[in-house]
Amino acid sequence: MNSSTKEIAIYLEHSESTLIENEHKRLRKFLTQLQNVCLKSNTNNVLCNECDSGRIASCLGLLPSYSLDLIHVVGEHFHHEEKIMLSKLSQHNSLELHDYVKNHLKAHEKIMKGFDKLVKNCHQKKDDLNLHQIYKEMYELVTKLLTIHEQTFDIAFRTQPLS
Ligand SMILES: [Zn+2]
Repeated sequence: MNSSTKEIAIYLEHSESTLIENEHKRLRKFLTQLQNVCLKSNTNNVLCNECDSGRIASCLGLLPSYSLDLIHVVGEHFHHEEKIMLSKLSQHNSLELHDYVKNHLKAHEKIMKGFDKLVKNCHQKKDDLNLHQIYKEMYELVTKLLTIHEQTFDIAFRTQPLS
């Protein structure tokens, strides 16, 4: 990230900031649900055989839907952010804004690739029945990547001051 990325400000219309805020809330809700799939999500070194078979089946059954939701919820959010950024760029094109948007889009692509890889890994590992670890890793990685992303890029989004 170069210095201009830190200084850039993108002023959002009220409807745009509402959309982004709602999607961020949706993401946080998704993360809370993901964190709570495993009853022992806050405990370390848990083995799934400590749970009954019904519970294990439920954790296993939920994995594909959480994976799909992750890609869907984040993908849709990134798509909306990109649409907004590109429309701002068409209104006031500057070299700094252009650079910022280019880097922000690249960062989205990188995260989505990372999530694809994560999902594939989770499905490969699920036969080991180490579901506790899978959910924990998924939650931690997604939270980390999205938090860094927000602090690095989404920080440029400002709500249009009321005139
Ligand atoms: Zn973004």
